[in-house]
Amino acid sequence: MATLWPQVSYFNSGTASARQRMAELDLVDRADWCELYKRKDDGTFWRLAVEGKFEQRFLVRIDDLTNWSIFDSSPLEKALLLDQRGGLTDEVCIQQGCSERTIQRSAFCLNHTFERGVRK
Ligand SMILES: [Zn+2]
Repeated sequence: MATLWPQVSYFNSGTASARQRMAELDLVDRADWCELYKRKDDGTFWRLAVEGKFEQRFLVRIDDLTNWSIFDSSPLEKALLLDQRGGLTDEVCIQQGCSERTIQRSAFCLNHTFERGVRK
């Protein structure tokens, strides 16, 4: 039985977990600076940005292969960022006009932290 992977996770080349994931994946396609992989165990599809394209790479499960390369995974990446930071504070975002609460260890709310390129 294949263990379930989260729909999105950080992928850091050179780590044991990255090597372990890659060993379970077969490359099936490339497009738009992304690679599409099929997991051997359960036939699920996974997207990974090519190395060097983004500072932080994510391994994202692709449920619909139509337009797999441009599927917007930012909501998933934001949820992962929020989780990684340990949730919200009681402070208000310092971005002018924004009244959202900040995420832990940031002066900005989730959306404005993400907009600034922060991913973890
Ligand atoms: Zn904000």
